[in-house]
Formats: sequence, C-alpha cells, structure tokens
Amino acid sequence: MAAASLALRRLDYDETAMTSPAFTPVDDDLYREIILDHYRNPRRKRAVIPADRTVAANNPLCGDEIDLTLRLSDGVVADIGFEGRGCSISQASASMLCDAVSGLETASAAQLAREFRSMMQGEPRGADLGDLEALAGVRAYPVRVKCATLAWNALLEALGEPGEAARG
Ligand code: ZN
Repeated sequence: MAAASLALRRLDYDETAMTSPAFTPVDDDLYREIILDHYRNPRRKRAVIPADRTVAANNPLCGDEIDLTLRLSDGVVADIGFEGRGCSISQASASMLCDAVSGLETASAAQLAREFRSMMQGEPRGADLGDLEALAGVRAYPVRVKCATLAWNALLEALGEPGEAARG
C-alpha cells in the first residue's frame, strides 16, 4: 500500500513544491547531479559586453528570467553569457547552453537548440546530446518543460529563428 500511495503522490502535482527554486524534477541521480552542479556553479554567468545580440526571456509560470548576450564573429558564436534567476532547471539549462554553443557556428548552434527542443517535446532527435540529456527527465513534469527550454528559445530568437512565441 505504501508503494501505491507514493506512486499516486508523484502524479499529484503540488504547485508550490514544483516551482520552488531548489526542486529538481529529475529522478536519475547522475542526471540530477549534473543539473545541480550547473545550478550551483553556473558557467559563463556574465554579460557579454559589447554584445551583438541580447535577448531577455522570462517564464511567468515559474518566475524564471534569462538575459542572454552573445557576440558573433565570422558566423561563429564567439562569446556567449547569461544572467538571470529562477529555478534550478532554468538556470542549469542556460549554463549548459552557454557551455555547449560557445565556439559553434551559428547554424550548428541553432540546430542544437532545435534538437534540444525536440528532446524536451518528446520528438525524435538525431544525436545524443551529451550532458544535455540530463534535462530530458523533466519531460515527466510538463509544467517544468518551459523552464528547460527558456534559454534555448532565447538563443533561437537571438539567432533570428522563431522561438516559442512563434510556435504558439
Ligand atoms: Zn522554472
């Protein structure tokens, strides 16, 4: 009986717990550690000055804010950084994004963002996304998927591609 009631509790969303900054809705221990490491020790958490592109994004469902700044040079993401605040998923995802796309050609960065978004929407994707796979577990908590995709939609907007807004 105890196991059954635990299983039921997991499906019964507690909105307060779901949106507390420290709540990390990923069951896998290794993946959760990867996420918490980025949350506690964010990479590239600073503004790029001067920036070629600046995008401010927010997720009112959870109170997440991300300011993404980047500098482009010869079709490459020469420098990228973020500032922001919010839950562990939103901030870790932004940190992982900056790590992943720094130095990439803009087309490759956009492709990675699209693949990440496909992963979060449960659609087929071409490649294993390395550490980014850690965020796939968030799919089990639909209200938190926007936390994970916030920075990636900002990146697509910065690169001139339609983000979440254009997709409805
Ligand atoms: Zn969030």
